[in-house]
Amino acid sequence: MKIDLHTHTSVSDGTLSPLELVQGAELVGVDILSITDHDSVGAYAQLQNFNSRSMKLVHGIEFSCQWEKIGIHIVGLNIQLGSDSIREGVKTQHHARLMRAQCIAEKLEKLGIENCWQGVKDVAGESVIGRPHFASMLVNNGVVKDFKQAFDRYLGPGKAGDVKHFWSTFDNIIQWIRDANGTAVLAHPHKYKLTRSKLMALLDDFREAGGEGMEVITGTQTDDVTRLLARLCQQKNLLASCGSDFHRPGQYWSVLGKVASLPIDCKAVWENWV
Ligand code: AMP
Ligand code: MN
Ligand code: MN
Ligand code: MN
Repeated sequence: MKIDLHTHTSVSDGTLSPLELVQGAELVGVDILSITDHDSVGAYAQLQNFNSRSMKLVHGIEFSCQWEKIGIHIVGLNIQLGSDSIREGVKTQHHARLMRAQCIAEKLEKLGIENCWQGVKDVAGESVIGRPHFASMLVNNGVVKDFKQAFDRYLGPGKAGDVKHFWSTFDNIIQWIRDANGTAVLAHPHKYKLTRSKLMALLDDFREAGGEGMEVITGTQTDDVTRLLARLCQQKNLLASCGSDFHRPGQYWSVLGKVASLPIDCKAVWENWV
């Protein structure tokens, strides 16, 4: 089975439209897909007429929050889209994203980069504004040469554009997902670059707040990372999820539908849905 439970569309910071994404996933033979745009379920509104014989579409979202001053992402899977809690969650986080984007623009302007607010709005268009839109704006204006430089100098951890205090809390986000009958999954645990003990503490807090799963596979990763995450997943008695974190074609480390199988000793998050 080909299972990809973490993907993005142009509704957030991906480049494919929701329809292009689901058609692309069908084409490469995905059996179960979830679109998990950042703090948005807008993609699903564009797919109301989409039906697939071969692929199951599981409703999802990737919420942003903060844990101990670290930016953390929590994926909600198999959520009820129309539920009050998802409506509230999306509304709250949209407001947070807007305030945050204005704050980032002001901070960058103070560093001497002109016209950031209008510039980023022009880049984002209808999409929910995120740091990748700031990165594009910085590249377009010739301030940096590429995305990597944009994140290294202006947007990554500890830089001016790394603004996290607007997000709703870790506990609230997990509760929104649970209230929507979904499963809260800690996204890409190894990407936070935490020490082993800090990662254990994060997983303990996550479980205590009602989180039920963690991603054991995110895109292309080394076997060492997979082994470590699978072990933690079992130790903490969590369900295992997997996804490409696909954003755009052409990134070899994140290809739509290209997701390694879960280690056999992991209990898959989708077992209860299929
Ligand atoms: P935001 O949701 O606004 O906090 O932006 C986070 C998104 O920025 C992530 O989901 C990635 O798509 C992207 N991102 C984060 N770090 C980097 C990086 N170093 N280089 C390129 N893109 C990145
Ligand atoms: Mn992203
Ligand atoms: Mn993420
Ligand atoms: Mn993601």
